[in-house]
Amino acid sequence: MDGPSPSPEPNDLGAWWMPFTANRAFRAKPRLLAGAEGMHYTTPDGRRVLDGIAGLWCCNAGHNRAPIVAAIRAQAGALDYAPPFQFGHPGAFALASRLAHLAPGDLDRVFLCGSGSEAVDTALKIALAYWQARGEGRRTRLIGRERGYHGVGFGGISVGGLSANRKAFGSLLPGVDHLPHTYDRERQAFTLGEPDWGAERADELERIVALHDASTIAAVIVEPMAGSTGVLPPPKGYLERLRAICDRHGLLLVFDEVITGFGRLGHAFAAERYGVVPDMICFAKGVTSGTVPMGGVLVREPIHAALMQGPTHVVELFHGYTYSGHPLACAAALATLDLYRDEDLFTRARALEVGFGQAVMSLKGLPNVLDIRTVGLAAGIDLAPKPGAPGLRGFEAMDRAFDAGLVLRAAGDTLALTPPLIASEDEIGRMVGITGDAIRAVA
Ligand code: PMP
Repeated sequence: MDGPSPSPEPNDLGAWWMPFTANRAFRAKPRLLAGAEGMHYTTPDGRRVLDGIAGLWCCNAGHNRAPIVAAIRAQAGALDYAPPFQFGHPGAFALASRLAHLAPGDLDRVFLCGSGSEAVDTALKIALAYWQARGEGRRTRLIGRERGYHGVGFGGISVGGLSANRKAFGSLLPGVDHLPHTYDRERQAFTLGEPDWGAERADELERIVALHDASTIAAVIVEPMAGSTGVLPPPKGYLERLRAICDRHGLLLVFDEVITGFGRLGHAFAAERYGVVPDMICFAKGVTSGTVPMGGVLVREPIHAALMQGPTHVVELFHGYTYSGHPLACAAALATLDLYRDEDLFTRARALEVGFGQAVMSLKGLPNVLDIRTVGLAAGIDLAPKPGAPGLRGFEAMDRAFDAGLVLRAAGDTLALTPPLIASEDEIGRMVGITGDAIRAVA
């Protein structure tokens, strides 16, 4: 249809097939957000709603922050797009060096893409290409983890450990194995921060190596803290142990920091919090504070060097996206990184961590609350499922909370609270208050 785009009829909710959404329930009772500023959304009828999950774990600097908005506007007026294949623009190079400076160790090379899912598939492909370049092309196996979430590409769902995200989609990638997850309610329930028990779960990697032989394994990928599957902080010492086993057998270790990157755990990357340097870091979400889609992979220098071979006019890695290093995303990211630095938001997240954790932990004892886990500015609250209807209690709690003025996330019967890093103590208190009321309401 030509002409100006029609403003959507409020009741016309039929055409958009919404992702990871109960579409039929949504159409029956939509939750529409029309504006946002700082810690709040506004609904089309003008109601203010507190954002308890930083968009979708991404708007770490809060919403519609003036310097980011200004940078996106200016970029759109100056250079809307530049091809990233064989051409470039200054913003992408500036951003890559900023990110390399933020990253730990010698993760000095940055591959840019458009999302977390793309970042994961990119990292897995770099791992495979690296081993081939090294003359060890037999190393093709990929090791993920149960309860891992690595986006929705075929690579990501293959190494991911969420059966719901896998089972409708066929046989997936061959040659994938999974570590066990690190959660044990009996031993860890209601732990603030990293649990004491569970580091030994890393030793399962030794069993997998023994089974397949190290010479067939390309890489191990884990989220330092599993986010989407319910906020599972790593047990104390677990990531160090995983790193040591990878080193012993020459396996690449990839951290998927799509959620944990950019302040969620009080540091630029969780790798810094845990003092463990992986070989690659996947990032997305917080890099632009959610404003413009962007993802990427930070790569250790020797991996990059191994792939920079052959005649200089030949493409070194046959991989990339039309929107790799998109000018608007780069401008948004540079302004976002400035804001994180100028407002010292990662330190702020660290300062809020204990108070946030204690506030959420005060929900212990409410009806159906089976466990609460918190780390950084992330909390997961497990509710007992309603008999015969898994996920319904979580869904209803989310819906109640929204009616009462809070956006929270329900993954099945687990509620997540992951506020923007600019949250005040008062706003955290209100979030927890509304969440508690919602939990009581669905008892
Ligand atoms: N990895 C992790 C750890 C994530 O949490 C997510 C998204 N929540 C992704 C990958 C996928 O990111 P995207 O939705 O941007 O593709």
